[in-house]
Formats: sequence, structure tokens, C-alpha cells
Amino acid sequence: MARHTTFRFCLDPTVEQTVALARHVGAARFAYNQCLRLHLDAREHHRTLGDSGADADAVDQARDAVPWSKFSLVNAFNRWKVSEAAGRRFLVTRGGVAEVEVTGLAWRGVVSAQVSEEAGADLGHGLSGWAASRSGKRKGRSIRHPRFKKKTPTGGSFRMRNKITRGYASIRIGDDQPRSVTLPRIGSIRVREDTRRLRRMIATRRARILQATITRGARRWWISITVEAADLHLAVQHPASGADDTTGWVGVDRGLHALVVAGTRDGTETLRVQAPKILATGVRRQRRLARSVSRKKRGSANRRKAAARLGRHHSRVRDTRQHFLHQVSNQLVKTQDRLVLEDLNITGIMSNRRLARAVGDAAWGELARQITYKQQWRNGQVVVADRWFASSKTCSSCGQVKPDLILSDRTYTCGHCGLVRDRDLNAAVNLAAWAEDHTRTVENGVGRGGVRVGDRQAAGPVINACRRDGSGPHIRVGETSPDDAGTPVQAAPAA
Ligand SMILES: [Zn+2]
Repeated sequence: MARHTTFRFCLDPTVEQTVALARHVGAARFAYNQCLRLHLDAREHHRTLGDSGADADAVDQARDAVPWSKFSLVNAFNRWKVSEAAGRRFLVTRGGVAEVEVTGLAWRGVVSAQVSEEAGADLGHGLSGWAASRSGKRKGRSIRHPRFKKKTPTGGSFRMRNKITRGYASIRIGDDQPRSVTLPRIGSIRVREDTRRLRRMIATRRARILQATITRGARRWWISITVEAADLHLAVQHPASGADDTTGWVGVDRGLHALVVAGTRDGTETLRVQAPKILATGVRRQRRLARSVSRKKRGSANRRKAAARLGRHHSRVRDTRQHFLHQVSNQLVKTQDRLVLEDLNITGIMSNRRLARAVGDAAWGELARQITYKQQWRNGQVVVADRWFASSKTCSSCGQVKPDLILSDRTYTCGHCGLVRDRDLNAAVNLAAWAEDHTRTVENGVGRGGVRVGDRQAAGPVINACRRDGSGPHIRVGETSPDDAGTPVQAAPAA
């Protein structure tokens, strides 16, 4: 089992459970902030000791005492929560003698201790990312130092691991009734969606729950259950193609008018998807709501309410978009085994303000991410075309490049050979042809069923979408049911 996937359900908690969930979110935030406080204080102590010229041993000791790793942070928090600094009370005896009783953190028994452990682990992760980024060990965008988390009416989350004691899992599905999730300390909470698929996978040992993250959204509570699952059934996987077979690529053009246009080299359009209306109409509503927020007096109750309305609107649009993107990516990976995506410089386009919203709505990056991992599960292939390949401006029939093509030209008309073709389809056909031409050199590039791009100039990242290491061969056909492909789209309601 080597496939990690997530099932996301909408929670339907009772009033008491909502209070308990909110308490856990608060406890996670508190633990994170307290771990950060302990860490910063220890660092400060080390620095002042060094500046004051104390002896070297003491300075070294102070340096080693700074909690950096997740283990040391969790240990520091656990030591602190029973200490006098976390809570104490004064007792005066009849004889008039006052003494201090150390109580520790008064409410520590009310919430699950796992929540603070996971919060400490998150902080450790954040600190090591920051340290690696600062020392240059980590490439990419620089990572900022972890900051204190603010208390907010919505948002926030906490995480729990699935612990198995004497054969009993601490996180269970359908314990009480089919549509429910049981969490330690909180008990059985109802969920809105059907959990049958996940229950069946667990019952037949094709899935194992690793952890659950509970999130407070702007409108509802969600639970994301991460599972380790068996590979997809061979029947839904794409058959491996021969090493010298370079055909069958389908280009996927991610456009602004139609979200996705897919086409093959011979000019056949295999898929055309329009983005749902709400993403366009939602912009008007968003503007109106944002205006309404800015008109309200700062710090007033009305402003808070207006901001909540805006937040709910954003969350609704986000959910709709995510649901839609899953549908589109599923449709693509189920019908095609070889897909070519363009490498769009998304940040470059986003800096063009007139295009920014349309591109953001289309959520290209997210779509590419979904296509890539889903194709990997199905043993298909995804190739990203070279960034400098002019898929839109090239004629898909004769290869002539038209440098003056503008965005409003919806049809590609070639001045050289006279081809008239839909602009997005023209780009998709070019991508398909690009992949066929660039996967020809495969003599020494074949690895486990994947095709490597031989052209060094075409430096686009190539994803050899084959099963990961350690997943092992399929011993029996039928060990996974054909419909076990992650979260069903129905499980993420659009609105
Ligand atoms: Zn032409």
C-alpha cells in the first residue's frame, strides 16, 4: 500500500460538539503559541547570556536547551503545562500559613493531549523550514519565521493521529451510525456524506486511517481523513505503452474562455469544458460584499457580520471551484493515458492585473496538480511542455509561428497554409504534437514504464507517472475495487 489519499466530509456536530470542537481548535492554537513562546524565550536567554559574557559552558548549555525539533518542542510544552508557570493557587491553612500549590494548566484535561503534540510538531516543521531557508539549504521562495496565531471567529484547525491500541483504532468511521466519525475525547460526530466507500476499504484492509484534520470553515466544520490506500484496481489503470510507442498524446490547453480544451495531433477535439457560471457571477457579488465591509465602521459588530458574509461567499466559490476541477481532472485521466500540459508561468500572468482574476478563477495550478497525481494512480503519463514552446502562436498544420496573435483572436487563421482552427484547439494540437516529437528518443530513457524526454533543450519537468517505489507488484487482480479512487466528487458538496 503506497497511495495516500484524503477523504473529506462535512461534519454535522451537535451544539455541545461544536463547543468541544471549538475548544480543541483553541487548544491547538494555544499550544502552538505557547511552544513558540518557549522557543523564543529560550533563544533570547541564550543570546543575553552570550552577550553578558558568562562562561562558555553555561552559554553552550543555554544553546542546547533551545527547543527546535518537534520532539523537544512537545517535551518543552508538556513540562511547562504541569509547571508553576502554567498555573498555581495559594492555600492558606487555618494556622494562617500560606503555601503555593502548583496546579499546572487548569484545562489540560479537557482537550485531547494529541492536539498540542500535533501543534508542536507543526511549529517544529515551520522552524526547520525557516532555518533551512535562511541558511540557503532550502531552495525556492524564502520562508518566513513562524508567527503567533491570532484568535479568529472562523478558521483554525486541529489534527489527531489514529492510534491503535489492542486492535482498536482511535479514529473510526461509522461506529455509531453509518454516517459518523468517532474521534478521541469528542466522540461520535455525524457527517453529511455517505461514508460507505471508506468504510468498505477499511473493512477489507485496503485502507488504513493515518490521521484526521478538523477544520472550522467560514460556513461549516470539515474533517479530512488521510488514509494509506491500496493501489487502484488494474481494470482502471492504463495499460503500459510500448517503449517505442510515441503516439497517443493528448494536449491539454488551459484557456480563459473555455477552461480546458483537449485535442490530439490529428486535430480531433476530445474534450472542451466551460468554467461554471458562478465563478464569473461570483465576482460581482464579491465586489458588492467587499464594498459593504469597507463601508462599515471599523471594529463594529456590523463590520464583523459583513466580513463573515464575505467570508462565506469566498468559501462557497472555493468549494464550487474545487468540486468542478475534480470533475474535469477525473474526466481527463479516465479517458486519456498520455497527457501534455503547458508550463504556464502562472506568477508572470498573475502580475498582469487585467488577467489576474480570470486566471486565478481558472485555477490552473490546482488543475495541473490534480491531473498529475490522479494520472500517477492510474499508471498514465503526464508531460509538461517546454515553457518557451509557443503553443498558441504556432500553426498546428504547417508550423508557421504567428507572433502578432492577440488574446481576443478566438480563431487561429494561418496566413501561410490557410488553416482555420479554434484558437484553443490549435494550442492543444500543438502540445500533442510536441510530446510526440519529444518522446522519440527513448533508448536509454525508459524507466519502469515511463517515457523520459530525451531533448535536453526541452527542459520542462517530466513526470514519469508510474507507480511509486515500494508499492510492489499486483499479486491478485481484484484486490482493489475499481471505484476506490480517493474522495468521490459527491463527498465534496459544491455549495
Ligand atoms: Zn499554417
